[in-house]
Amino acid sequence: MKNQELVDYLMSCGVCKVCQLRYLRARGSEYNDIHKSLQRLGVKVTEDQVEDEDNVISTDEQPLKKPRLSHCSTCLGIFSEDFQRELIEGIIASEFGKYDSEGIVLAITMPMSLQLRQLSMWFALQRKFGSTVHSNSPPDVPIKEAVKLILHPIICKKLDKKYDANGLVISIDLRHKVEEEEVDKLVELNRAAFPGKALRRVEISRGLLEKQYQPSRVKAETFEKYLPIPPTAVDESLSLKSVDLQGPMVCVAGRYRKLSRELSHTPWLLQGVRQMEDSIEEIIIRSVGPHFTETVPKITFMSSGREDVDVRCLGKGRPFVLEIPNSRRSTLTREQALAMEQAVDTSGKVSILNLQVVPREQAMNIKTGEEQKRKYYRALCALKEPATLEMLQKLQISESFDIQQKTPIRVLHRRPLHTRPRTIYSVKARLQRDNPLVLVIDIVTQAGTYIKELVHGEFGRTTPSFSSIIGKPIDIQALDVVGIDLDWPPEVDNSVAE
Ligand SMILES: [Zn+2]
Repeated sequence: MKNQELVDYLMSCGVCKVCQLRYLRARGSEYNDIHKSLQRLGVKVTEDQVEDEDNVISTDEQPLKKPRLSHCSTCLGIFSEDFQRELIEGIIASEFGKYDSEGIVLAITMPMSLQLRQLSMWFALQRKFGSTVHSNSPPDVPIKEAVKLILHPIICKKLDKKYDANGLVISIDLRHKVEEEEVDKLVELNRAAFPGKALRRVEISRGLLEKQYQPSRVKAETFEKYLPIPPTAVDESLSLKSVDLQGPMVCVAGRYRKLSRELSHTPWLLQGVRQMEDSIEEIIIRSVGPHFTETVPKITFMSSGREDVDVRCLGKGRPFVLEIPNSRRSTLTREQALAMEQAVDTSGKVSILNLQVVPREQAMNIKTGEEQKRKYYRALCALKEPATLEMLQKLQISESFDIQQKTPIRVLHRRPLHTRPRTIYSVKARLQRDNPLVLVIDIVTQAGTYIKELVHGEFGRTTPSFSSIIGKPIDIQALDVVGIDLDWPPEVDNSVAE
C-alpha cells in the first residue's frame, strides 16, 4: 500500500495527523513538524488538512475558532494541543510547585479504550489492505511509545524540567467517557473470544489486552459483534482523572556521636512498651526530616553498625544515612545543614556533623564490608584485686589473635546460638588515674565482636577473654566506641560558608 492511500483511509476514519504519522511508523523527530514530515513521506497535504492542523496546533490567540466536531478515533485526542494544555494545567494545579526536583518522570495511565481502538484499526487496515498488514506485529507505533516520543519532551519543556528516571514521578490517570461502555463490551467479547476463561471485569488488564488481543488470536468477526471496525471518532477528548506526585528518594548522610549511656539506637520496644523515651534515630530524623518531606515516618535510618544502649560513640562519630522517600527538596545548603546539626546538638544526647545530601547510589556504602571493618573501642574495666605489672603486661597485645565467641546470653532472644571466630587486632591497657582497681583498655577488633564478653569471658563462652588471659576476674564498667573504619561520607564543615 502507498503512504498516500494509507493516509487517505486513516483520514476517512477520523484519525488525527499525529496518528497518521504513527501509522507511517515515524519513530523520531518526525513529530516536531508533522506537516513537513507527512510531505517528506510522500503524502499530499490538502488545504483541508492544513486548516485542520491549525486547529490542532495553534494556541491561545484564536478564541473564536470553530469548535472541533470530533476527536481522533484512535488516540481520543491525546496528541491534540488542547489536551496538552489541559495536561500541563493539571500538573501545575497539583502540588507540583512544592517539589524542587530538576528531573521528572511521567507515568501516564490510559483508558483501555485506546488499546481496543488500536486493535479495531488493525482489523480495518487488514480488511482494506489485505496481507500487507501483519497479524502479529502492530501496524502502528504504539500509543505508549508515541506518548514518550511526543508528549514527554513537550511537557518537560513547558515545565522547564529534565527527563530523569530518578526524578519526581508524575502519575497521570486519564479517562474517557466511552471507556466504561467499551470495557463492558470487552468483557462480553472476552467471553466469546476465549470461552472457558470467564474473567470478571476487574480481571481484564492492560497486560492481558496487549498479550491476547491481536488479530492472530481474536477473529475480526468476533470482535465486530461487540465493537465497531474501524473505530469511530468521538465528540469529546480524553480528560484528566488525577495527577499524583511522588518525589524522588533523597539520601542525607553524616556522622553522629552518641554522648549518652542511656539512649537506644532506634525506638526500643519490649512487648509493645517503650523502654526509653528517645533514640538516636528519632532525634536525628526529627531535626532533618521535615525540611525534605511531609511523610517523615517513612524515612529510613541506617548506620555503619550500632552501639548498645549504655555505650557512647565518640571520636569522629559513626557514619549514618537517611533514605528519604517522596522528598520535596533535593538539596541542602551548608547553612541549613548547620542549623540541623545545631538542633540535634541541643538534645545533649547526640551530636551530628558532616551532614550532606549524597548521591543515592552511595547510600549503600554504609553497609558494604561491615563484617571486615575494624572497630576501635575504649573500655573502662574493674578488677576485684589491685592490678599487677604482670596483668598490665599481659594486656599489651600488639599482634592480632583470634577468639571463639558464643552468642552472648543477653542477645540470645534475638540472635541464633552460634560460636563465631573473631579477630582482635590489638589490646592496650593502662591504669586509670593510678587507681589500681580500674583499667582503661583500648581495643581494636573485627566488627561484630561482643566487647563486654571479650572482657569478662561470660563463664567461658568467649575464649580467650581478658579474664582468662590474666587469670583473674575482670568486668566492664563502661564502653566507648572511639573510631569507625569507614571513610564516608566526605568531611564537610557546615559552619564554613559556601
Ligand atoms: Zn490521534
